[in-house]
Amino acid sequence: MLRGFSAELRRLFILAVVCVLVGLWFDRLSWTLLAGGALYIAWMVWQIRRLNKWLLRQNDEPPPESSGIWGELFDNIYHLQRRQVQEKNSLRAVISRVQETSSALRDGVIVLDWRGCLDWWNPSAQRLLGFHSSDQGKSVINFIRHPRFVSYFEEGNYSEPLELPSPRFSSKQLQFQITRFGRNERLIVVRDTTQLHKLEQMRQDFVANVSHELRTPLTVITGYLETLSDSGAELSPSWQKALRQMQQQSRRMSLLINDLITLSKLETTESGHNHKPVALKPLLESIRSEAQALSGEKNHQIFLECETPDLELAGNEKELHSAFSNLVTNAVKYTPAEGRIVMRLWEAHQQIFFSVNDNGPGFDSKHIPHLTQRFYRVEQSRNSGTGGTGLGLAIVKHVLMRHDGELQISSELGRGSTFTCIFSRS
Ligand code: ADP
Repeated sequence: MLRGFSAELRRLFILAVVCVLVGLWFDRLSWTLLAGGALYIAWMVWQIRRLNKWLLRQNDEPPPESSGIWGELFDNIYHLQRRQVQEKNSLRAVISRVQETSSALRDGVIVLDWRGCLDWWNPSAQRLLGFHSSDQGKSVINFIRHPRFVSYFEEGNYSEPLELPSPRFSSKQLQFQITRFGRNERLIVVRDTTQLHKLEQMRQDFVANVSHELRTPLTVITGYLETLSDSGAELSPSWQKALRQMQQQSRRMSLLINDLITLSKLETTESGHNHKPVALKPLLESIRSEAQALSGEKNHQIFLECETPDLELAGNEKELHSAFSNLVTNAVKYTPAEGRIVMRLWEAHQQIFFSVNDNGPGFDSKHIPHLTQRFYRVEQSRNSGTGGTGLGLAIVKHVLMRHDGELQISSELGRGSTFTCIFSRS
């Protein structure tokens, strides 16, 4: 730039010297200076016009030849333009590469702008949801109108994916996972989970059918075992022991089957439609007396503390009974004789809390994340003695999920455990 600028200054200086010499020669200095200035301005205007014409042409043509500051200006603009074109081309290549890659994906990918309107989508999304190119700029909610998707989309908590029947093909099941990026833009990944859904359904049906089918033969076996033990038949001590064990195991099996049936019902039935206000105090009082009866000779002290006696929760009474009673039954099962069990119900910050606290053996906190998994037990040997099925807390978790609640567990080895159910007040 500096070289062009000094050439320009030199040119201006030469012009001024020529004008001064000619002006002095003809004794018309001011006229020649004026004429020189006008000439220089005219030349400048001409260069500006050339620059403008060249810029307007908008093609790859090299800039017009020029010297001095204008030559340098033309060259610099030309280089700038070429660099921009190269950058644009490489960006275009990156974009088309990304588009090609996501076009090859079997999962649908949808990019939404900050208003939640369709910006871009890949062919899989088009196939799964039936978009057309004219749909760009339309709200995604116009295409996926399912109330669960609408509330999931609007609530903005995308930590878990959402499973829904496809809005286009009723036989298909889709999973939607939303991620935020940029300036409140969103990316939706749509996965066809029909096959997985079918497998899960098959598993649920299988467990439900097997449990139902096992019930009848087990009832027959239990019946005969009871008749045999009541009949007072003369049995050798080893047979008496065997009979006791058979009765114990058949009782355990029937508990297991009942829990499996309860779990499959919780998994397969739609939740929420039969929710009614449930008075919690009477429910907990009946659970307390059942637990006292279960405690029997172990003679636990079981207390019920209700801060708000007329507290109600919208839910399914049978399911809530099953969840709360599982927690209290566990406390009775695992707390040694004469132990203390406190059931507590209270309300705070628009939430309802129900906790069961015992002064039993407790467990290490490393078990807490696994306790609600099916068949998980802290110590196999200890539980085999208590006749547990390992399904109780899985049932509690399912019931709470169906009531938009959560389970909190805290425990200390040797000091006891507290299980707290938390529900939001609707
Ligand atoms: P189970 O039928 O074996 O009781 P659960 O799912 O109800 O199955 O409980 C899972 C495991 O959690 C139990 O096996 C037991 O080890 C532990 N547990 C549950 N409640 C208590 C409690 N109140 N005190 C100590 N351990 C408990």
